[in-house]
Amino acid sequence: MFISKSFIPILKNNPSEAKIKSHQLMLRVGMIKQSSAGIYSWLPLGFKVMKKIEQIVRDEQNKIGAQEILMPTIQSSEIWKESGRYEDYGEEMLRIKDRQDREMLYGPTNEELVTDIFRSSVKSYKSLPQLLYHIQWKFRDEIRPRFGIMRCREFYMKDAYSFDVNDEEALFSYNKFFLSYLKTFKRLDLTAIPMAADTGPIGGNLSHEFIILAETGESKIYTDKRIFDLKSDGTKIEKNSLNDLRKKYEQFYSVTDEKFKKDEFEKKVDESNRLKTKGIEVGHIFYFGDKYSKPMGCSVDLPGGKKDFVKMGSYGIGVSRLVGAIIEAKYDEKNEIMKWPISIAPYEVAIIPMINKNDTSSLKKANDINLEFQKHNIETIIDDTDENFSSKVKKMNLIGAPFQIIIGKHTEGDLLEFKETGKESKKINLAEIIKIIRTQKIKN
Ligand code: ATP
Ligand code: MG
Repeated sequence: MFISKSFIPILKNNPSEAKIKSHQLMLRVGMIKQSSAGIYSWLPLGFKVMKKIEQIVRDEQNKIGAQEILMPTIQSSEIWKESGRYEDYGEEMLRIKDRQDREMLYGPTNEELVTDIFRSSVKSYKSLPQLLYHIQWKFRDEIRPRFGIMRCREFYMKDAYSFDVNDEEALFSYNKFFLSYLKTFKRLDLTAIPMAADTGPIGGNLSHEFIILAETGESKIYTDKRIFDLKSDGTKIEKNSLNDLRKKYEQFYSVTDEKFKKDEFEKKVDESNRLKTKGIEVGHIFYFGDKYSKPMGCSVDLPGGKKDFVKMGSYGIGVSRLVGAIIEAKYDEKNEIMKWPISIAPYEVAIIPMINKNDTSSLKKANDINLEFQKHNIETIIDDTDENFSSKVKKMNLIGAPFQIIIGKHTEGDLLEFKETGKESKKINLAEIIKIIRTQKIKN
C-alpha cells in the first residue's frame, strides 16, 4: 500500500477527548471514527487489525472442534421471555419495535437464540457434544460508554456455546475452551490470566475471566505472580490432560474484586508473590448447566429412554476490545512508537524512502523491494509522499508495522537499512530481511 493512495487519516496531535493510550492511538492514526456515543466506524487500518485478530480467534475455535454459524443481530423478544431474561436484562438491552408492533431487540448475547436453534434440531444424546460459535456484532446500551472501543455500545464479539449430555462431559467442553483461550491470547502475544469470576447476568456456577494486565484496565485483580510462569504447551484435547491444565492454573490464587477476600489472599499467597493491580477483561467463560435449557425446554433422549435437559456453557471473546487491549499492552506512548505483534500487524514492513524532487531513485528502489516482498506474501506500506524524512518516520512509528526499511543516503549497493520498529537499524541485504520476517511470521 502506498501512503499517497491510502485512507489512513493521521492527526498531527493527540486528540484531547481520549483518556487512555489505545483510544488516543486509534483516533490519531485513523483506525476508528466515532459515529455516535459508543458507536464506531472501523477505517481501513483498524479494520485490518480486527479482521486478523478475528481470524486467529476463529482458527483456535476450529481447532477444538467448534463449528462456526452466524446468528442475526436482531432477535425476537419471545425467546427472552421464555428464559425469563427479557425483564431481568434491564436498560442495557436495546429494545426495538417492528412495523407490526412486534417486540424485537438487538442481541447483547445469544444464549436464548442458540438454545432455540439447538432444541429444534437435536433430539438425541448421540448428537452430543456440540460446540457452536459465531462472530457477530453485539449491542449493550452501556450507561457510560468510554475509552473508545474498549467499553462501547456496539462491539464485535466471538461467542461460543456448548451442549452436553451431563456435567462431566460439559466440564470437558468447558476445559477445551479454557485451553483454546490460553492459546488464542498467546498467539496475539498477550499474557492473559484466567481468574475465577462472578457469573453476573449470564448466571451459573463455574466461570473464568481472562484478563490482561494494564494500568488503565477497569477490572481490579488480586493474583499470585507465579501464575505468569505457567504454560499450556503439551496439553492434549483429552479429559485428564485438560483437567490437569485447569488445576495447574487454579492452584494459584487469582481473582477479580467480586471474589476477593483479603484473609484468603494473605493466607494463600506469601507477600513476595502478591500482586494487586488492574486489568482488561478480554474473554469470559461460563458453565451454567440447564439455566437456559430448562425454562426453554431444550432436552435430549438419554440412553435408557429418559430425557434430560442439555447442559450448556457459553464462551465470549471481545474481538473489537482486543484491538484496544493489544495497544494498551504494546504502545510506547512516550516515544510514540507502536509495534504490532506480527501475527496481526496491519502491515509487516514499512518502507521509508527519502525522496527529493530531482532524484526519485530511492522511490524506484522502494518499488522494486515491494515487488519482491509481494512474491513472499509480506505486506508492506510505502511512504511515497514528499514529506520530510522525520515526519515520515513519526507517521510509520504510529502505524506500527513491526519492521522498517529506510532507503536513502546510507543505502549502499545491496545493503539496506533495516530495523525492528523502535530499535537500532542494521545494514543487511533483502534476502536476509525476507528470511528474518518469514521466520518471525512462522513463529507466530
Ligand atoms: P465487562 O465486565 O467488561 O462489562 P461483561 O462481563 O459484561 O464485560 P461478557 O458478557 O463476559 O462481558 O462478554 C464477553 C466479552 O465481550 C468480554 O470479555 C469483553 O471482552 C467483551 N465486551 C463486553 N462488553 C463490552 C463492551 N461494552 N465493549 C467492548 N467489549 C465488550
Ligand atoms: Mg464478563
